[in-house]
Amino acid sequence: MIRELICITCPRGCHLKVDENLNVTGNFCPRGAAYAKAELTHPVRTLTSTVVIKSNLDNRVPVKSNNPLPKELIAKAMEEINKVRLSAPVHIGDVAIKNIFDTGVDIVVTKNVLE
Ligand code: SF4
Repeated sequence: MIRELICITCPRGCHLKVDENLNVTGNFCPRGAAYAKAELTHPVRTLTSTVVIKSNLDNRVPVKSNNPLPKELIAKAMEEINKVRLSAPVHIGDVAIKNIFDTGVDIVVTKNVLE
């Protein structure tokens, strides 16, 4: 069976076709083949979300995973993120959750909230 997917590695957005042996066509460059193989064998996603913060300025502060997480962990990671309560001040790069699910990936703050 041929699987079809769009490479999201760069804005060119090549339309990829992948056969059952993970042979990839339609990719303009090698990164497309690597993306397709990873997507079909071990898909990962960078997680972006927000967490609750106690602050005079904001109710929530944006966070993201500092590396991609296995796609199957994204929903569980969101549950953990929803439990987090931060207090100002926080700074870009501060760790909201360290080593989530022993993946080696941290959930980090992406905005300064100073008061
Ligand atoms: S295959 Fe290469 S050129 Fe095409 S979208 Fe992916 S990274 Fe970009």
